[in-house]
Amino acid sequence: MMITTKEVSRRIEEFSNKCKEKKFPLTPQKTAIFSFLAGTTSHPTAEEIYGEMQKQFPTLSFATVYKNLQKLKDLLLIREIRVGGQKSRFDARMDDHSHLIYPNGTIVDAELDTKKIPVPAGIHPKDIKKISVHFYLS
Ligand SMILES: [Zn+2]
Repeated sequence: MMITTKEVSRRIEEFSNKCKEKKFPLTPQKTAIFSFLAGTTSHPTAEEIYGEMQKQFPTLSFATVYKNLQKLKDLLLIREIRVGGQKSRFDARMDDHSHLIYPNGTIVDAELDTKKIPVPAGIHPKDIKKISVHFYLS
C-alpha cells in the first residue's frame, strides 16, 4: 500500500505535536528518522534506517540512530516489530493494523478488521489495548 504525501505530512505533524506535548526535544536527526519512517511502508531495520540517515548526516553513528529509535518507541511515536530470529523492524503507522511476514523477513501491512476478531476467553474487551495479528507466510 502506498502512503499519500498528505498522510506523510499528517504523521509528521502529529509527531511534532506529540513531541511538544511530551516535552521531547526535537533534533534534526530525530525528525529525519521519523520522516523517513513516516514515508515508507517497508518496515525497515535499524541498519536500513541508519544507511538512509548517513546520506543526510554522514557523521551520525549507528548507536545514536538506535538510541533515537528506542526513545521514539518509548514515547509511542513509532512501533518496533520483533519477529522471532529476525532483526527488529520499525513502523511509524500507529493505528491498529496487522502484518504479513514473509520468510525473507519482509513485512507488509495487512488490512484486517480487528473488530471482527473474537475476544479470547477470560479477557474483557475493555482490557485489550491493541490488537496486532502477524500472518507468517511460507
Ligand atoms: Zn505496519
